[in-house]
Amino acid sequence: MSIAEISDKIKSDFISDKAQVMAEAVPEAVEALRLSYLGKKGKLTAVMEDLRNVSKEDRPAAGKAVNVVRQFIESEIEALKTQAKEWEISAILRQKPIDVTLPVSADVNIGSLHPVTHMRHKLNQVFKQLGFTIYDGPEIDTDFFNFSALNIPDHHPARDMQDTFYLEGSKNLLLRTQTSNIQIHAMLNEKPPLRIIAPGRVFRCDSDMTHTPMFHQIEGFVVDEGITFAHLKGTIDAFLKAIFGSTLATRLRPSFFPFVEPGAEFDVQCGLCHGKGCRTCKNTGWIEIGGCGMIHPNVFENVGYDSSQYSGFAFGFGIDRIAMNRFALPDLRQLFEGDYKFLGNFPVNAEG
Ligand SMILES: [Zn+2]
Repeated sequence: MSIAEISDKIKSDFISDKAQVMAEAVPEAVEALRLSYLGKKGKLTAVMEDLRNVSKEDRPAAGKAVNVVRQFIESEIEALKTQAKEWEISAILRQKPIDVTLPVSADVNIGSLHPVTHMRHKLNQVFKQLGFTIYDGPEIDTDFFNFSALNIPDHHPARDMQDTFYLEGSKNLLLRTQTSNIQIHAMLNEKPPLRIIAPGRVFRCDSDMTHTPMFHQIEGFVVDEGITFAHLKGTIDAFLKAIFGSTLATRLRPSFFPFVEPGAEFDVQCGLCHGKGCRTCKNTGWIEIGGCGMIHPNVFENVGYDSSQYSGFAFGFGIDRIAMNRFALPDLRQLFEGDYKFLGNFPVNAEG
């Protein structure tokens, strides 16, 4: 027989062997089939070695005939390998049928909300119930929105109080140091009455046990006709009691911020000692939460509101600080280190 005839014979043998493998549907048989034709001692391999003995004139035609069969077998084997994977899966399914009526395994590891996210959701919910809407604003902003429009002119000492990150090569673009920039954006875009909270990230060049270069604030403000300091006090009291518990007292202390007049800081009674004094509250009986006040007439002027017609109040505080107090964390930086073990301590349904 010529090489071409032998090749044809091998091809037809392969076709019948393949049919046998398909009928048995055993994954291992595919590799055995490949070895018996294309392996070192395979049938086709032997023919290819015989090509050496064919005369020079006949060799190209014989080589071509063998090659055609080799390519055919190779592509058939590849298709069989894909088929074999399906056989494997159905073999597993036959061995271990799935019982869909079994209960879900108790070992499933369910993730949990980050304490800061959890606290932000809780705060949003409290303020929504008080009739506030949520507003968003840019983290990169201009000097105007972060400082000048908020009654913090150039060379004002308040700019030194907040160590600002300026964008490289720019004296005007900065990472906002406070969510108060959203006050200006909102007041320029909307007309009173306004009742807005704006949670977001802020940035300051600062890092120690109680400060991180990035932290989360909530800014809140109300603008309408006839808004008084009593509305401010009532709002602060309502949200502190909703977060820390209705049995704890709250208080305002006079303070100064350029964008409010008069200004105040607000505290909640220490939940650990109920005002008696302990390490957490540094023996004062109070936990400082944030700053607030009546919106300064200059701020209204900067956004084109008539301060003889409208009045308003604003407040701001750190979400992380509240989470730190609520969950009794010693170091604020723990919140941002991404330590999976630490974050796993806060179950999904942790009540804020
Ligand atoms: Zn205390």
